[in-house]
Amino acid sequence: MSVAKRRVFDAGFAGMIVGLPLLTWYFAVSFAYHDAKLVWPDGAFWSRVEAPSPTTVGLYVAWVAFQAALFAWLPGRTTTGIVEQSGQRHTYRLNGLAALAISIAVAVVAVASGLVPGGVLHDHWGALVTAANLVVLVGCIGVAALGRRQATPEERQLNWLEAYTAGACRNPRIGGFDLKFFCESRPSMILWVLIDLSLAAKQYELHGAVSNAMVLVCFFQILYVADYFWFEDAILSTWDIKNENFGFMLGWGCLVWIPFSYALQPLYLVHHPEPLPWWGAVGVFGLNALGFAIFRSSNLQKHRFSSDPTRKIWGDKPEYIETAHGNRLLMSGWWGLSRHSNYLGDWLMGLSWSLTTGFGRVLPYFYPIYFAILLIHREWRDNKHCAEKYGEDWARYTERVRWRIIPWLY
Ligand code: NDP
Repeated sequence: MSVAKRRVFDAGFAGMIVGLPLLTWYFAVSFAYHDAKLVWPDGAFWSRVEAPSPTTVGLYVAWVAFQAALFAWLPGRTTTGIVEQSGQRHTYRLNGLAALAISIAVAVVAVASGLVPGGVLHDHWGALVTAANLVVLVGCIGVAALGRRQATPEERQLNWLEAYTAGACRNPRIGGFDLKFFCESRPSMILWVLIDLSLAAKQYELHGAVSNAMVLVCFFQILYVADYFWFEDAILSTWDIKNENFGFMLGWGCLVWIPFSYALQPLYLVHHPEPLPWWGAVGVFGLNALGFAIFRSSNLQKHRFSSDPTRKIWGDKPEYIETAHGNRLLMSGWWGLSRHSNYLGDWLMGLSWSLTTGFGRVLPYFYPIYFAILLIHREWRDNKHCAEKYGEDWARYTERVRWRIIPWLY
């Protein structure tokens, strides 16, 4: 890599380390003090960012430790992951659904017994955002140091900034504890659920009722997370697990970005308890159901096909390309309509979450806007990866399946 290109990359990494936490603080201040308006952040705005308190940092660390204990010790079905760069194939215990259920139960008992108020995560949002950012920024130094020791010779060529930001190695582990698999799901997705429940509790505390919009968005998001854990073995074959190194980008994305930016719609609804009209509620529900059906069935088609290529799809024998690489490329069902219908379904669900907030503000729509960019970039990157991996076979596949994400449109 040329020196100039290296400098651009390093500037990009440094920009992410500074810019991404700023974005979460922007949301925290805008939602708490500006009614979720898109305001220009001046000095007075940033002065509202909450400093980390020992209590919130301690709470966040305790949360991650609690999830780590559940991850390590709860019983569950075991499965094997993909063959890694080292040639090893690790075993994983799938106990995410049990961890989710136990975490919700512990939270309900803590609130019902009066130990903590239901709206606690709303009331300490700003300080928690700061605490999570701080813990992850510092924790990633340890992850980079550990990853450096477990890196391949090629990965050891990365400079420290890149090793910290993009990750020093693919799957850093402490003994059998896979840091990436753990962070991808447990302290992130489960915290998102608890945040949703806490926001609904706060709306009830303030207004004496939970609006239909709040019920819908919490139901949609909790269903999304429960579904994620129900098909937990499928996480092991996602792009992130297979192809990404684990460092700040993925770690921060999971531990800070998911819980504190995916819940912006219910956060907005806390102070906007106006009900959706019945037709709005039905429309939003229908859109979510459509997105969920496309997302779940397309992911399942590929997942099941990989273990049983004879299993019928939409009533017919699946069509596929037997690649020179040894894998099969599915061309039936959703995978014959576009190359990533699963992204379309996922995005439609995200849009339905934001529609529960009405049309008063742009910021509650941040998720579908950001997610569209992420998925378009992801598809582009995956296409490049598959073109390199499958060569001529991928060209045959893309000739047959022309649409990238949205059949007949994109
Ligand atoms: P996919 O599950 O679509 O996996 C892509 C991989 O599948 C390719 O790299 C290739 O891998 C294989 N593949 C591609 N086409 C075919 C085919 N026709 N037949 C057989 N195998 C094929 O992508 P992701 O891992 O990116 O996403 C998984 C899910 O996670 C999606 O539903 C996505 O929406 C969701 N997601 C959600 C995010 C969020 O923040 N909410 C973020 C990112 C993803 P191989 O090399 O094995 O052939």
